[in-house]
Amino acid sequence: MKTYYNTALKRDANDPLAGFRKEFVSEESLIYLDGNSLGKLPQKTIDLTTKLVQVEWGNRLIRGWNDGWMDLSNRMAQKIAPLVGAQEDEIFVGDSTSINLYKLAFAALKIQEGKTKIVSDDLNFPTDLYVIQGLIQHQFKQHQLALLQSADGISMEESQWRSQIDKDTALVCLSHVVYKSAFMYPMKEVTEWAHQNNSLILWDLSHSAGVVDIVLNESNADMAVGCTYKYLNGGPGAPAFLYVRKELQEKLLNPISSWFGHEKPFDFNLNYEPSSSIQKFAVGTPNILSLAAIEPGLDITRKAGLRAIRQKSVFQTQFLWDLIEAELLPLGFQFASPKESEKRGSHISIQHPEAYRINRAMIEPQFNTKVIIPDFRPPNNIRLGIAPLYLRYIELYDAVIRIKEILISKEYERFGKEKLAVT
Ligand SMILES: *Cc1c(COP(=O)(O)O)cnc(C)c1O
Repeated sequence: MKTYYNTALKRDANDPLAGFRKEFVSEESLIYLDGNSLGKLPQKTIDLTTKLVQVEWGNRLIRGWNDGWMDLSNRMAQKIAPLVGAQEDEIFVGDSTSINLYKLAFAALKIQEGKTKIVSDDLNFPTDLYVIQGLIQHQFKQHQLALLQSADGISMEESQWRSQIDKDTALVCLSHVVYKSAFMYPMKEVTEWAHQNNSLILWDLSHSAGVVDIVLNESNADMAVGCTYKYLNGGPGAPAFLYVRKELQEKLLNPISSWFGHEKPFDFNLNYEPSSSIQKFAVGTPNILSLAAIEPGLDITRKAGLRAIRQKSVFQTQFLWDLIEAELLPLGFQFASPKESEKRGSHISIQHPEAYRINRAMIEPQFNTKVIIPDFRPPNNIRLGIAPLYLRYIELYDAVIRIKEILISKEYERFGKEKLAVT
């Protein structure tokens, strides 16, 4: 163990991104391993939101729209575009990931006349599947959802997606990095295969945006959606983004035609005329307060650079993997993530029959020790998320030692087995 401890200290001392931690609100008694679910609060967001409310809303009132609110979504799109390997006129920022997924999946199915198969997988985040199920139930009644089946519940075999994505496939809808195991699809290869079958592809980037070097343009991806409240640190329920490849934009129609998606919203015409830009995917008035709050997180990410972030993420996940292997596997834990870093996003899931209660004991320690916040995903996964902008190596070391302590002392037995509302 001593060597891991020393390695952690050495890596932290030589970490080129170490300086970014102070850009976030951190508590030294808390080890936060849930940046993949809700990123930390950037220091700058505190002042920004105070000023936004007091001055922009409080004093400027309706004049705020001409002072910059009208252009806010666009400005955020310019900042997100390079983080996902896209052009700024291919990104719209607003609404939730679920709503954006609905809009794009609807639009894609409309132009894929004659094909009725939609391909997703059994590792996907439930909301993505619910959105597709709803589309089939209410609108595309002849369509079927085909789910790729993972053999081990962790990864997807290449043979699965190559055999299931076929000439009948209208749309492929997958998470780039899957939320439970962190398995990462080879975006270029899957996209290319979808195109060979004349299928459209829609990537959900929620678990990769801000931590993986995403190459939408280079992959020739058709559409994508993603979150800003996870690795991009935009705040709880922060607006999501969507991407549509330039050449496809004219063909796709937003199923919710609203005034902010109109070519000239302030002409107040009685007839809808879609915007000729990506703005056509807007639905109603933008959420200015939460939209403005995503800027500091985006700026920090851009400053650190995705290449450096991904590199640290790979080093940290590998370090955590080795620690778990040495300390926790002998105590009954199992890995539930891919072993190879090129097939893995930025978290590691581990399984244990008592995962739920161990997770509780990490968050609510009995004695005066550090609080550790991972998250729990049923049936028995603890997800350990790595957000390289603020996570130290020594915190990973401390977290594993603490899990070991909880197991050996059986401290988790203080908790009941019934689950809390949000895990
Ligand atoms: C977090 C996440 C979402 C969240 O969707 P919301 O509409 O913001 O609730 C969607 N898809 C995936 C893959 C996610 O990880």
